[in-house]
Amino acid sequence: MTYHSTRGQAPVLAFDDVLLAGLARDGGLYLPQTWPRFSKDDMAAMAGLSYAELAARVMLPFLDGTLREDDFTALVAETYAGFEHAAVAPLKELGRNDWLLELFHGPTLAFKDYALQLLGRLFDHVLTRKGQRVTIVGATSGDTGSAAIEACRDREAVDIIILHPHGRVSEVQRRQMTTVASANVHNIALDGTFDDCQDMVKAMFNDQAFRDALRLSAVNSINWARIMAQIVYYFAAGTALGAPQRPLSFAVPTGNFGNVYAAFAARRMGLPIAQLVVGSNANDILTRFFESGTMRMDGVRPTLSPSMDIQVSSNFERYLFDMLNEDGARVRAVMEAFRAQGRYEVEPAVMQDIATLFSGHRLDDEATRQTIRRLHQETGELLDPHSAIGVAAGRACRRDAAIPMVALATAHPAKFPAAVEAATGVRPALPPRLADLFERPERYDVLPNDLEAVKAYVRRAARVTA
Ligand SMILES: *Cc1c(COP(=O)(O)O)cnc(C)c1O
Repeated sequence: MTYHSTRGQAPVLAFDDVLLAGLARDGGLYLPQTWPRFSKDDMAAMAGLSYAELAARVMLPFLDGTLREDDFTALVAETYAGFEHAAVAPLKELGRNDWLLELFHGPTLAFKDYALQLLGRLFDHVLTRKGQRVTIVGATSGDTGSAAIEACRDREAVDIIILHPHGRVSEVQRRQMTTVASANVHNIALDGTFDDCQDMVKAMFNDQAFRDALRLSAVNSINWARIMAQIVYYFAAGTALGAPQRPLSFAVPTGNFGNVYAAFAARRMGLPIAQLVVGSNANDILTRFFESGTMRMDGVRPTLSPSMDIQVSSNFERYLFDMLNEDGARVRAVMEAFRAQGRYEVEPAVMQDIATLFSGHRLDDEATRQTIRRLHQETGELLDPHSAIGVAAGRACRRDAAIPMVALATAHPAKFPAAVEAATGVRPALPPRLADLFERPERYDVLPNDLEAVKAYVRRAARVTA
């Protein structure tokens, strides 16, 4: 199986090269040229597998021989053995046909671990085999940075440098990044905003000579392998709730559209998904799109759910590619218009198609607090603000009460303790393995908002020799 770009002008690549490339050279995102499909019998045979066994079965067709099956199976087993819960992604019943899929049992307590823990191992494996090394550079407003650091720590072929805005991430989030005592992990606290951090990273990637010399690489959510690893828990939830015989629906608190695109991919692969509900906070570009058929950029507003504070959902381009019959030239035209005018429209016929599967729902901070409070009163569960948006969106948009609605819990409540305590009066405790987080020594370097200073730092940190 080979992969092509959503914009149709980048070379077709095999899985291992797509993994290392991240973004395609034409600015597009990689997708498989043909999709694996599981029959009803295949899915029936998934029931009862462990999460790691299921993960190997769902992902192997995407590798197409670029990794040995036994190597990959071992990597996957090692990845999910490090998760806290025996089921890895357990389902919890909130009410009749009302479910929560808990995706916060990885080392950094957010769903990003489910893909990034595997990605770190895949990077190391593929690079070691090729005799190469990379320097991973990224900007974070919180969850991605800690998950990426935890995934790459102590990996021989990788150095990782993460920029966060100095004084502007939560203390739990900062400490999850800065208390990792590994020689290949470097934290920059930049005197600036998250946007400044992102601009720094973009500028480094745009400097071709610098990029090549340090072999810069990224593990952000446009990396295909992250989507691939996220498809697994949709199959896990589906087969646990009766697929392929019974259909089910999902409600996903959404930022970059990566997580919910993985649900769409699972559906393409045969999982009977009836409905996909996208939950957003005040940064509601997707909800507005599903309501109006127009994608229009807006500024970013800070909310209680910072991991969804985005201006554009970069992974939506993957879905658009599917909706436009995999016509890369059309996607390219739409994305160019979007960049130039800050908006684009989708034809009514296409929009009608989209609306049969997707709906969107927005919650402001007050409604998010109310949802956290109500869920706590009803069920005793503490939900973080992102997960609460998922649950509320699912309840608001469900079309068929007889079909299970599964809301994704994307972060542990202890990751956002202030919001949860304000809503419920209960301060959620960190899980035992992170209980001493506030006593661990921190290591980070404060740098000015100056590209040359950041580049000099990255040059010193990187072990790549040109
Ligand atoms: C990243 C993140 C999201 C958004 O996921 P996308 O794949 O960007 O849509 C939602 N909740 C939490 C807790 C996150 O960390």
